[in-house]
Amino acid sequence: MRIIRADRVLTGRRGEVIANGEVLIDKGKIVSVGPRGSAGAADDVLDLPGHTVLPGMIDAHVHLGFDDKVDPVTRRSPESDHHLLLRMAENARKLVSAGVTTARDLGARGFLDLALRDAIEEGLAVGPHLVAATRPITITGGHCWYMGGEADDEPAIRRVARENLRAGADCLKVMASGGLMTPSAPPSWVPQYDTGQLRVVVEEAAARGKGVAAHAHAHASIRSCVEAGVTTIEHCSFLTASGHRFDPELADLVARSGTYVCPTVHGATERIRQVYGEKMLQDWLAGIAGMREAGVRQIAGTDAGFAVGGIPNATDGYVGGLEVFATVGYGNAEIIEMATVLAADACGVGEVAGSLDPGKRADLVAVAGDPLSRLADLRNLALVLVSGRSVGQGAVDTVTPSVG
Ligand SMILES: [Zn+2]
Repeated sequence: MRIIRADRVLTGRRGEVIANGEVLIDKGKIVSVGPRGSAGAADDVLDLPGHTVLPGMIDAHVHLGFDDKVDPVTRRSPESDHHLLLRMAENARKLVSAGVTTARDLGARGFLDLALRDAIEEGLAVGPHLVAATRPITITGGHCWYMGGEADDEPAIRRVARENLRAGADCLKVMASGGLMTPSAPPSWVPQYDTGQLRVVVEEAAARGKGVAAHAHAHASIRSCVEAGVTTIEHCSFLTASGHRFDPELADLVARSGTYVCPTVHGATERIRQVYGEKMLQDWLAGIAGMREAGVRQIAGTDAGFAVGGIPNATDGYVGGLEVFATVGYGNAEIIEMATVLAADACGVGEVAGSLDPGKRADLVAVAGDPLSRLADLRNLALVLVSGRSVGQGAVDTVTPSVG
């Protein structure tokens, strides 16, 4: 039994703050959450004056198999799977050291994400709990085809979906539109699949109680994703051949369907201004602001690992992405909810993670300061617990020793 006390305990749900709160943890799970003294006695009490305790953050869109710098397509000598798996383990360590205790990996080759997910659960590697999509389903030569999930018609789509699920995928990823960084793929504003084809992916996932994450930049693809009933739309950037063009009616359709959107904002957003120009950046942000106004349920996710146009998107830049949400009008309490409760629900792990509630995994962070008034305080990590286990990393070590 262990008690963690702090000036503030945030449950994750918007506006729920327990002043002078404490969390009681036992065997990797949360036993109780309440005001100081409510948990009774425990042999191990960690008092953190000046700190805030909140649920561990969730990155709903990462690629641990990318190295955040090098274009994986044009890389001269492809890495062996063995080498790549070690790189993924290092990326997972970085991610959790930034306070991310659950991450959804939306595309990896060779089922390496499953190997890493299971190794982390066994304690062989340090990282967040992983929700793994394995090979993204894409057309032949389509966006991210090199991860091995090519399928052009409905029987082929069904087969790849079933193979991924047989291997142990936690969700399915489908490339509804083209994308950047794959020279042979259609451009981002051109659909790869129609509604009927996307529906096949949704059916196969739903038959096993799983969700679908769909990569979609194009207007027509965003509409198809809603019609097919995917769980989350990734990027949702309203891209056309001449740039981002937000469509309020389409945003309204997304909002009314309840489909989650992960707009993949990250800490390197300022670099977009340098590489693509001010107009491109502002038009993209206008879409995220427009979706907020339309009432679209947006969640935090960074596309970490994916470098676009030479822009590094570091696996530890999570909080930078949250700060982008603040620039388009979201309040800090809303953003914390998007990074915890809502992201957990969207990733299919809302029953076990995303909020500080009895019975859930003891995935939590403690930060110096108060992120409700200053979002940047989320960088002041004093403690990161993944299922109650302390992640000894940098500043984290100095506050509490690692517990086994
Ligand atoms: Zn991605």
